[in-house]
Amino acid sequence: MLRVNLDSARTRATGVVYADAVGREFEQPAEMVVLAAYGMNNVHLMLISGIGEPYDPAGGRGVVGRNYAYQVMSSVNLFFENQVFNPFMGSGGLGEVIDDFNGDNFDHSGLGFISGGYIIAGQTGARPIQNHPVPDGTPKWGGQWKRAVAQWYNRSMAIGTHGSVMSHRANYLDLDPTYKDAWGRPLLRLTFDHHDNDLRLSNHLTGVAEKIGRSMNPTHVSVNRPQHPYSIVPYQTSHNTGGAIMGDDPRTSAVNRYLQSWDVPNVFVLGASAFPQNAGYNPTGTVGALTYWSVEAIKRDYLKNPGPLVQAQAQADRK
Ligand SMILES: Cc1cc2nc3c(=O)[nH]c(=O)nc-3n(C[C@H](O)[C@H](O)[C@H](O)COP(=O)(O)OP(=O)(O)OC[C@H]3O[C@@H](n4cnc5c(N)ncnc54)[C@H](O)[C@@H]3O)c2cc1C
Repeated sequence: MLRVNLDSARTRATGVVYADAVGREFEQPAEMVVLAAYGMNNVHLMLISGIGEPYDPAGGRGVVGRNYAYQVMSSVNLFFENQVFNPFMGSGGLGEVIDDFNGDNFDHSGLGFISGGYIIAGQTGARPIQNHPVPDGTPKWGGQWKRAVAQWYNRSMAIGTHGSVMSHRANYLDLDPTYKDAWGRPLLRLTFDHHDNDLRLSNHLTGVAEKIGRSMNPTHVSVNRPQHPYSIVPYQTSHNTGGAIMGDDPRTSAVNRYLQSWDVPNVFVLGASAFPQNAGYNPTGTVGALTYWSVEAIKRDYLKNPGPLVQAQAQADRK
């Protein structure tokens, strides 16, 4: 699907435009449109289609693209001369998680940050090309590096931390002014960096993970903290949230509590795009729960009486 078509008042979707496998474009008329294309793609489609006011970080106005948030990762790699972990074996759920440092599960007094994250030692089946940790100080290439990879691949494990990121006015999604896709549509642009809360939070979690790791008496310990300034290049996590957040006020949210667009009420936007902040948990369970919640409201109320499911005073004031 390439875009949603709106009526001339831009308050009602009339259908969508999609392309087939050989690039022919078709219009599919629709009474109702559900965007469920992954959070960032939802925001892209909204911006391209003109659904809701784009966020302007300079003035703080607008809602589509605001509250983008990511998660903050770190790890402590432990190398043991006399332990063998067989990291090539594993499964998605094999591991131990400490949740004591997530959300409000601990006393934050004096720590200088809010929220938290989880600490995990998991063994998901480490592919040798993806996973070949070596102790700090090992050359990055050449014979010495190869020997270190062979020596430590089987004798290392990691304790990871996976922390929350609070939304920040400087982190947002918008349309790229330069780059376009094959359809001539501007690409989605991500503007993001970690801010103090993320870094303090991550330092705290990493300190706990390091303490646990050192108590196991490894031969070497390497601590990998989040990059600052942030770099998108190394894979960190696929947990992107925000950009079309749910809320009570159309001045600060793109969709209402049922994930219905405030501006174009026959469009519903499902996904982690609705999260106002990014919690220190993986998002998909909540994405699923919100989807059930929204679909229930569509079935129960919207189909019987298509129109806004929430009347917000601020929406009326704005018009
Ligand atoms: C490597 C990896 C590991 C992950 N691990 C975890 C994990 O451990 N725990 C966790 O909670 N989450 C995890 N996630 C995140 C999880 O996959 C997402 O949160 C989840 O898939 C989001 O669901 P969604 O329905 O919003 O989007 P998706 O599952 O991405 O579904 C969107 C669908 O829309 C389609 N689509 C996109 N654009 C268009 C368009 N323009 N027109 C028509 N169709 C379109 C896509 O093809 C796709 O089928 C992981 C993701 C990755 C990539």
